[in-house]
Order: sequence, then structure tokens, then C-alpha cells
Amino acid sequence: EEDVALLDADGLPLEDETPDGPLPVLAVVGRPNVGKSTLVNRIIGRREAVVEDVPGVTRDRVAYPANWAGRDFTLVDTGGWEAKAEGLNLAVADQAELAIELADAVMFVVDATVGATASDEQVVRLLRRSGRPVVLVANKVDGPRQEADATELWSLGLGEPFPVSALHGRGTGDVLDAAVEVLPVVSAVGGGYAQQGGPRRVALLGRPNVGKSSMLNKLAGSERVVVHPTAGTTRDPVDELIELGGRTWRFVDTAGIRRRVHLTKGADFYASLRTQTALEKAEVAVVLVDASVPIAEQDIRIISTVVESGRALVVAYNKWDLTDEERRHYLEREIEKELVQIPWAPRVNVSAQTGRHMDKLVPAIDTALESWETRIPTGRLNAFLGSIVAAHPHPVRGGKQPRILFGTQASTRPPRFVVFASGFLEAGYRRFIERRLREEFGFVGSPIELSVRVRE
Ligand code: GDP
Ligand code: GDP
Repeated sequence: EEDVALLDADGLPLEDETPDGPLPVLAVVGRPNVGKSTLVNRIIGRREAVVEDVPGVTRDRVAYPANWAGRDFTLVDTGGWEAKAEGLNLAVADQAELAIELADAVMFVVDATVGATASDEQVVRLLRRSGRPVVLVANKVDGPRQEADATELWSLGLGEPFPVSALHGRGTGDVLDAAVEVLPVVSAVGGGYAQQGGPRRVALLGRPNVGKSSMLNKLAGSERVVVHPTAGTTRDPVDELIELGGRTWRFVDTAGIRRRVHLTKGADFYASLRTQTALEKAEVAVVLVDASVPIAEQDIRIISTVVESGRALVVAYNKWDLTDEERRHYLEREIEKELVQIPWAPRVNVSAQTGRHMDKLVPAIDTALESWETRIPTGRLNAFLGSIVAAHPHPVRGGKQPRILFGTQASTRPPRFVVFASGFLEAGYRRFIERRLREEFGFVGSPIELSVRVRE
């Protein structure tokens, strides 16, 4: 099979985007109003920072894909955490601690015009203890007049303060250079040392009380826990290695499950934060849904987050022991109605309490991961595209009929397809192609992406 060399919209070679491991994580940390969000917006391009409006879903994004000097990384924005965790009044130090825990390196932002405050000093102590590399941003240095303010921040003992104006862009290039310099190539917190061939990384997700910690205990208890990391003994104290079906699996961010913070306010926000950060590290997500009660808005939101993150997905309907025939009847109706977007996700009906069908989990995860890594050879893909186009050509619009010229799979994990066409393809037609791709190649348990490039 011949692989055609393709160019992207910028005329650059369209390469396999598969990273060697999870992307390194850079967190932007600092007190409220120092300019964290302004800086993040500048790094990623302002438009991306607005809350996405997926139909029926609004979500607070905290992690963004970013690139500087050819390096890809994940940028975590803690700006606005306090606003989102409304009424919680989360201390700056707690916020910073959360962010530092999940980051490979930290951009610590201080308002140079104000100088170092007591809460800045508090964050400095946390940063020192964490051992994470830190780049110190002396922000709001809009002109030469504030340069002296920046110099004073040497006193924090974090090395050179980079004078920056996040608002105007001044100095942001230099500070980004310094940040990517200290950023590891693959994420350590993301388990970069556990790549293909190493333990698979699984995120156990679900809203509070669906049974995540029960399932974790069942999995860890019935089988052998190889390592139970404690802080300081491994590079990542929040993951657990659990042996299942004769293989070792890395359950990521289990500290977030075990800690069981009980919050009256902001609980949803923290659940969504954990979902997103765990997904950054995971290859596959097992989303637990409580089968004994109606499917909730939050269940749907978590599933949408997984799909958007491009990770493999398994849905576990837990508390099956609490369902009767009537409930099971309604559950099927709810699934048909609420989860239409993921007919492809493998499903297991389990009870973390009784252990029912827990042995079905590993095969489901295996299937999902296999799909996630599937590569369709270019020749086979084009034979398939040719056949569907012949049988179902794009409808004629305004006297024109866009034609599919050819396609290729640009990457795996998850499968991403690029189709080149002679004109704009309607959304309905794209969905049709996606549906047919699944019918032909399966992709059970994996989201797939299809993008269209128009060629004259
Ligand atoms: P955050 O709470 O740390 O995320 O801070 P924001 O990004 O929301 O910024 C707080 C305020 O500081 C906003 O009014 C920004 O416009 C302003 N600001 C941010 N960066 C700069 C800067 O470099 N120079 C000046 N003069 N103002 C800035
Ligand atoms: P988490 O908040 O998602 O970690 O949920 P927990 O594991 O703490 O479970 C919440 C409650 O549901 C606890 O009282 C569990 O004992 C109970 N629970 C969890 N899984 C099951 C199950 O499969 N069947 C039954 N009957 N109860 C369960």
C-alpha cells in the first residue's frame, strides 16, 4: 500500500500526530487578578478561551492544547477557578496546590506593579516543596517604567523574573521560551514513563456517588495491587497500579477519588475539573453511571467531555444489583434518548458491590483501546471512500456537486481522518461518511474525527 505525502492547509507535510506519550502539562498559577487568564488567552489565541457552546452542554475548560516553538503541550488555566467555584472561596494556596499536583512545570504569575504579597509567598513555598520547575512571570510590565518592579521579584528566590505584559504581549515570547525549555518532552504526571508496552492508563470517571471508589476498591482488592504509591516514593503519587486479567493497569488520578472531598458548594465544578485533568493523562475512560436512578445531566456532560477529549470510552452501568425489571426497562429508554451520541461505546452492567460482571470490564477496555489505535491503510480507506461516493454521491447544490477526491488517516489515538474534496461537504454528508466508516471498520469504543479540506 502506498502512502501519499499530503500537505496541510499551510502547505506543511501532514504528519502522523500521534505523540510518543501524553503531552507535558504547563500550569499557570497565581493570585486572582495578576493576569493569568490574560496570559493564557495570549498564548492560545483569545478565541479559544471562551466557553464552548456544544449543544446542550456548557463546560468550563481548564486545559487547552498549546504550541510554542514547535513544542506541543497542555496549558492549564487556573484563572477564574475562584469565580467558577462560586461561593467556595478557595484559598489561593489550595488552588495552586491542585494545579501544581497536575503540572510538569509551572508559570507563576505575580503582579509586578503590586509586588510580592503574603499569598504569593505562600505559593512560593508550595512550589519549592513540589520540586516542579518554575518560570516566574513579572506581569503588568507594560513599559520600561515598570522594569524596576520586575527586578524586585528576584527576592522571591525563584530565579529570574521575566518582565511581561500579558495585556500587550510584551516579553511573552521570552517567557514561553524559558517555559518550554524546562518542560519535559512527555508528561511525567501523565505517566510519560508508562507508554505503549507499559501499563495502560485508565481514568475512572463519574459523578459523585456512582460508585467510583467502590469500584476502585473492588478492582484493587480482588486482584493484586502491585504498587500503592505514597507521596515522595514515585513520580506520581496520584496513580495506582492494579493488576487485572494478568496485566498491570495504571488507574490515573485515583487520589481524586480516594480523597473524597465533600463540598456542598462547588462540588460539580471539582468533579468536572477532575474529569478533565484525569482525561489529560488517560488513554481510556471508564465512565460509571448509576443504573438504579435516571441518567442525569452530569452523566451526559462527563461522557461528552470524554468524547471531546478524544479518549477511548467504556460505559459501566453500576449498582445493577439495585435495578428491577421496571427500572431496567426505563434505563434502556433513557440510553436511547440521552446517549444517542455514543452508540459505539461498549457497555457493561456491573455491581461494584457484589462484583457482578466486573470481569467484563477488561475485555471492554481492551476493545476500546484497540479501536483507538486502529490505522486504516490509505489504499483501503480510498477503496472504501470510492465505493460509498459511487453509491451515494453528495447532493447537487447550486448546480455544483462537491466530490471527494481522496482521504487519509492522519493519526490514531483516536483515529482522525482527513478527506480532500472539490467543494464544501454538508454536515449531513459528513455524518453519513462517519456512520459508514464505523459500519465498515467498527471503532467500537473510540471516538473518530473527520475533517474535510477543500481543494480547487
Ligand atoms: P487572573 O485573575 O489572574 O486570571 O487575571 P486576569 O487575566 O483576569 O486579569 C486581571 C486584570 O488585570 C484584568 O483587568 C486585565 O486586563 C489586567 N491585566 C492582565 N495583564 C495585564 C498586563 O500585562 N498589564 C496591565 N496593565 N493589565 C493587565
Ligand atoms: P463515588 O462517590 O463515585 O466514589 O461512590 P462510592 O464508591 O463512594 O459509592 C457511593 C455509595 O454507593 C456507597 O454507599 C456505596 O456503598 C454504594 N455503591 C457503590 N457501588 C454500588 C453497587 O454496585 N451496588 C450498590 N447497591 N451500592 C453501591
